[in-house]
Amino acid sequence: MRTISTVIIKPTKGCNADCSYCCAPPDGAKKWSIADFRRVFDALESRLHPNATLIWHGGEPMLLGAAFYKEAHTYATSRHPGVRFSMQSNMLAYNDRWNELFKEVFNGSVSTSWDPDELCRSVNGRTDVYGRVYRDKMKKILSDGWRPKVISTFTEDTIHLAHNVYDQALTESRLGRVYDIRINYRYPAGRVSLTGPAIEPSTYGRMLIELYDRWISDTPDFLITPLDQMFLKVTGREMARCPWAKGCTGSIIGLEPNYDIYNCGEFADLADPEFRFGNLFDDGIEACMTSTAARKLTLRRIRQPKSCQSCIHFTECEGGCMRDAVIFDRGIYGKFFYCESWQDVFSRIKESIITGEADTALKKFGHDVDEMKDIVGNHLRSGLASGLTHMRRPVLTSGYIPSFATLHGPVDLV
Ligand code: SF4
Ligand code: SF4
Repeated sequence: MRTISTVIIKPTKGCNADCSYCCAPPDGAKKWSIADFRRVFDALESRLHPNATLIWHGGEPMLLGAAFYKEAHTYATSRHPGVRFSMQSNMLAYNDRWNELFKEVFNGSVSTSWDPDELCRSVNGRTDVYGRVYRDKMKKILSDGWRPKVISTFTEDTIHLAHNVYDQALTESRLGRVYDIRINYRYPAGRVSLTGPAIEPSTYGRMLIELYDRWISDTPDFLITPLDQMFLKVTGREMARCPWAKGCTGSIIGLEPNYDIYNCGEFADLADPEFRFGNLFDDGIEACMTSTAARKLTLRRIRQPKSCQSCIHFTECEGGCMRDAVIFDRGIYGKFFYCESWQDVFSRIKESIITGEADTALKKFGHDVDEMKDIVGNHLRSGLASGLTHMRRPVLTSGYIPSFATLHGPVDLV
């Protein structure tokens, strides 16, 4: 039996902000009490991995109050000592009490969101208020010594501001206030579910490469997700991890305020009955995990698009995220919409390792540089020898594998 290692747990969809593109807006379900959480934990427990992480999400999870998490953590760890808590919050309610909790309960595992255009995140419709409160709280969080991950989502119109996000993180890190950043494409769910792609895969991929080139040159103390994870996947330090996880079904779930279970928080945002595993209390965890929806999604592991099966980056990419294949009308076994972005970035990362441009970054991650060049070079060579192809742009391997780039030109996406 597969155990669940991650639960994206939403105890409320209520929020103290009202962002225009919210993917999980208020749904009217009541906030959980501590008694509700105990029932939830008891019902999940038989399937939880001993070191499972509960990632508290929303809505705004801080609305439940610090005492809720203190009690919830005490209860969960008394039953399951290895369980860990993590939180994604807008941080607008952060104060000294939460500072204590970040230490006692979350062990610093916290993330937040902010968009540099400051046009869509608002409190009572006021974007200026959101921006001001967010900056005040971030200042306190950093001076309290925390290192949150700050997630920014971008559209075609705002992607150029990703460089500002990098610049700010670089400035702060040089002053000893380190936080990590995440550069995401904005996706159509929740309040913007019918709007289509907000940014083209080529634009998003291009920006990631620009940031990657700055990152391997500056080698700052902060991480840029998804680049850090892609880098670790290429160097073999990271195994399956969302969103490069063809076998995500069964090891992660998304739990809604009304106790409905989905494959993950992202699938839950779609609120599509076709992908609902069931309800934790009406059906029970076993029935949810063996439901028709769960079995269909499990098959993504083997039912990959043909072009993924022949892709030179499949080992690292694993065919991308099926939720994002669904959201762009390609179905659960269809092509991941941002494939082109991943192809370009994986190509660039491999190229930079082989050409030596990433030597400093490799050392920073504790790798033997020559060994890494061999591993990546040999992997590419054997992939090509067995018929895998670059679908867009071959890895340029100047000097290291001389004729490599001429072996296979780009071919069209299938
Ligand atoms: S469907 Fe996508 S977002 Fe959900 S767990 Fe799998 S890889 Fe992650
Ligand atoms: S074809 Fe695209 S989505 Fe499929 S494995 Fe390759 S990079 Fe990933």
